[in-house]
This record gives sequence, C-alpha cells and structure tokens, in this order.
Amino acid sequence: MTAPASSSARFLIVGPQGSGKGTQGVLVAEAFEVPSISTGDVFRENISGATELGGRVQAIVEAGDLVPDELTCELVRDRLEQPDAARGFLLDGFPRNRVQVDDLEDFLASRGEALDAVIELVVPREESIARLRQRAIDQGRTDDTEEVIANRLAIYERETAPILDVYRGRGLVLRIDGVGSLADVTARIFEALATRGLVPAHPVHGAA
Ligand code: AMP
Repeated sequence: MTAPASSSARFLIVGPQGSGKGTQGVLVAEAFEVPSISTGDVFRENISGATELGGRVQAIVEAGDLVPDELTCELVRDRLEQPDAARGFLLDGFPRNRVQVDDLEDFLASRGEALDAVIELVVPREESIARLRQRAIDQGRTDDTEEVIANRLAIYERETAPILDVYRGRGLVLRIDGVGSLADVTARIFEALATRGLVPAHPVHGAA
C-alpha cells in the first residue's frame, strides 16, 4: 500500500551556489504540486524586464551582495499570500540570514502555518566553484564571474550556513549529499522526505 500524500508541503531548500538546489527544488515542488519560489529568479526576471524593482536591485545582484532584507522579505510575503501557495511552497534562496528566518517564521505563525522540512544540499566548496564556472560558460550569468562567485560563497558561509543550525535545533533539517548525478541526488531527497512522512501525490520523475 502506498502512503497517503502529505496534506501540506512547506519546504526550504538550502545549499551553496552551484549545489543544484534550483534544479532539485523544482523537482520537489512539482512532485508535491506546490509553487517553487526562487528569490534569485524573481530578481533576475525583474532586472531583465527593466522593472522598477529590477533597477533597485541590479547593482546588488551583479556584485553578489544580498538585497536588503526589508525588500526581500516583503517580496516573499506577497508571493506566499498568493492562493497557489496556500497548501505549500518550496523556497529556494530564501531565507538567507537570521533576519529573514525570523521574518518567515512570523509570517507563517500569523497564518497558523509551519515549515515541514528544510532540505540541506551538502556540496564541498571546490565542487560548487567548479559547477559555477561551468554555469558561467553555459548560461552567461553576470554574477558567475570569479570575483562575484567568491563573494557569494563567502556570504553563504558567513550568513546562510548558520541559519541551518536554527532549523537543526527544531529537527527540520534533512542533510543530503549533493554530490552525484542529478537523479541520484533527487532520489536521496525523496527518500529523506519519506522518512518524515512527506510523500508526494505522484511518483517522482527522475527519482529512483
Ligand atoms: P541566487 O540565484 O539564489 O543565487 O540569487 C542571486 C542573487 O539574488 C543573490 O546573489 C542576491 O544578490 C539576490 N538574492 C537572492 N535571494 C536573496 C535573499 N533571500 N536575500 C537577499 N538577496 C537575495
């Protein structure tokens, strides 16, 4: 007998740049039929669309620095208030520091909601750098230059990695080895989610 599908699916995916969290996050979100929300994608879309928000964040994103918390948190709150996020969501790239953790917590608590799991993708620094260099060649992202990559990884290690301790303390973190083929890593993620009773309604494409 298959386990019943989880009724709520509120996930974060956290990992260094180049850990594959964008790709894996989309697969998890699709399986659980919840929106995948990447703050980096939202900023990039606004920059390429030359919106007012894009104009405000362009220089910051291109330098690999963090967009101010107030702006980022408001953007995420607005997105999570959309009806398609009522049953759940997968956040990729948010929260990235303690202020954002607390903001998300307040927002969810005000709605009587809570996170179900935090997926941590573990990838050694050298591997992240190698993957980002390749992405720079493949996608031509302006923030994938050597200097900016170093800045983004430093910010990750200084500000973002510590937030995992907060979630670890709450027993929410699923630590996943992010080295291997895309399908292998996907399979590890779904296995780990299943150990918490988090099972998608549909079989997962790409997972073993
Ligand atoms: P990402 O694609 O997640 O690596 O994000 C690309 C860039 O968008 C980052 O280097 C930041 O400049 C900005 N950004 C994305 N998410 C956040 C966030 N949660 N807080 C602040 N800045 C962010």
